[in-house]
Amino acid sequence: MMEISSLKTAATMSFDPRLLDGVLVCTKSKSRLIRDGEFLVCSDSDCRMRFEIKDGIPNMLLEEASLLSPEDWTSLMQRLDPQNSSNGQ
Ligand SMILES: [Zn+2]
Repeated sequence: MMEISSLKTAATMSFDPRLLDGVLVCTKSKSRLIRDGEFLVCSDSDCRMRFEIKDGIPNMLLEEASLLSPEDWTSLMQRLDPQNSSNGQ
């Protein structure tokens, strides 16, 4: 919990949306997150958590994140990140 609250504090103080792709990782699987509008979606097919971005600040609390169905996750990944799904990089 300490980790999460310090992340939220840092994000509130100086949040740059451009950092979203490189810095934040899924709080459950530590996988890369992919931005989908007002959401961040975990790139791990076994995890599939989706975190909401509220007022420009990602809410990384697992209990407030939603779990995507495999179907929804797959179509999101194909739409948002076609390169990742083809070469696993
Ligand atoms: Zn994850």
